[in-house]
Amino acid sequence: MNAPRIAVLGAGPAGCAVALGLQRLGYRVWVISEWRRFAAVEGVSARVLEGLRQVGLHQALASAAPPTPRRVRWSGVDQLLNDERLLDRPLFDAALRRDLADAGVELLQGRIRQLGQQGEQQRIVLEDGRSLLADFLVEARGRQAPLGEGRLRGPETLSLLSSWQAEPGRAGSAVESLADGWAWMAALADGRCYWQITLDAAAAELPPRDELPAYCAARRQASALVQALFGDSANAAAPVHARSSTAILPRQVVGPGWIRVGDAAMAVDPLSGNGVFQSLSSALQAPAVINTLLQHPERTQLACRFHQQRIEHLFMRFARTGRDFYTAEPRWADAAFWRARRGWPDAQPLHVDADIARLQVASMPVLNDGLIDEAEVVLTADQPLGIWHIDGVALAPIVRSLQAGRLEAALAALAPASRRTVQGWLLQQGYRP
Ligand SMILES: Cc1cc2nc3c(=O)[nH]c(=O)nc-3n(C[C@H](O)[C@H](O)[C@H](O)COP(=O)(O)OP(=O)(O)OC[C@H]3O[C@@H](n4cnc5c(N)ncnc54)[C@H](O)[C@@H]3O)c2cc1C
Repeated sequence: MNAPRIAVLGAGPAGCAVALGLQRLGYRVWVISEWRRFAAVEGVSARVLEGLRQVGLHQALASAAPPTPRRVRWSGVDQLLNDERLLDRPLFDAALRRDLADAGVELLQGRIRQLGQQGEQQRIVLEDGRSLLADFLVEARGRQAPLGEGRLRGPETLSLLSSWQAEPGRAGSAVESLADGWAWMAALADGRCYWQITLDAAAAELPPRDELPAYCAARRQASALVQALFGDSANAAAPVHARSSTAILPRQVVGPGWIRVGDAAMAVDPLSGNGVFQSLSSALQAPAVINTLLQHPERTQLACRFHQQRIEHLFMRFARTGRDFYTAEPRWADAAFWRARRGWPDAQPLHVDADIARLQVASMPVLNDGLIDEAEVVLTADQPLGIWHIDGVALAPIVRSLQAGRLEAALAALAPASRRTVQGWLLQQGYRP
């Protein structure tokens, strides 16, 4: 197949997942990336591991540490949970690249300096002077991807990350709320320790850059949770890496010849704990969107609508999740950090109660066999993008029958197992026979 050449910019989870998806669809793919410039540890849930398995990132999946205990001290209440999986990012990122190599995806190591249009193609110029031409660009450079105008931004947020080496011991992590922000911390079994404080970029009273290690050490000394997790090893000054963790949604995330995925499409507040999860979610749908844009240009609008709507929907969901965590900490509600985040992005509830009277049938873009198609779906109060099938049963005809008073006949036509599934879904929507 003389397939179009696709360049994926960035070898994080989003870029790698899209590259594998495109390779499976028969495209020629290059991934172009440099290494992340700092070491970090990130906490993910079991559903991230399921996402990695689903997209075929098996080496990355195997690099996750076993579940570790996580202490949460929020709103003055202590909880001990046992569901966090720690990702050692340098190990995880190296494993992602092995997954690419195993699948035969070509990786070019280097820093991208410039992008430009050349006729119908895109020229990618690397810092070392190499240059490449591609027919389609996947922007997956995370928070470092250049942003266009007119984006939605949350309160400006800054995270300071310190790491140091202690004696090997038990792995674990913890999170705690503070008067001016919150801190997340993790100890790995080999003795590497990470502590990260997240503050309001404008309100934080920070010293000059060269005094940040001492400032962070003093903040650690003041925390009983830090002392419990790391002991004395936390009290010495350690190198600090500062980065933005502001929630950002670019105005446009897809167009003819290009698409944004992962953090480049929507960067969420790290408090929602969903960064890697959302990267995989956007990467799961992107190959079908790209396939449609390249093979069915007449469906460009439909495919773009599909990606744009899903990214915006996911972003708002995670933004509201973050807001609800901030609202659950009332002790410093009037302090600048908390006040700004309790009201952003809006006052709408995270989930809307089911209401059978609000079910609607509408024509929407759907994912169908590696392409974006249009189909009748059911819109619910909580799923405004619609549900097409459950367990292989198309829902729109069922809801039309319900609205026309012919539900019994529609259900009778289904196999018993499907009938039970559909009846269960209708009951969840508030249907009372
Ligand atoms: C402070 C903070 C804490 C976080 N904690 C968590 C957490 O605990 N759990 C969680 O799930 N998520 C967390 N996240 C979010 C998580 O890191 C991201 O959501 C996730 O890594 C995004 O994946 P990605 O593939 O989109 O981008 P990335 O993982 O950022 O990958 C982008 C890739 O592009 C490369 N690149 C960038 N610019 C260039 C260039 N010019 N040329 C070549 N290559 C380039 C980078 O080197 C990198 O390899 C956190 C984020 C922040 C800011």
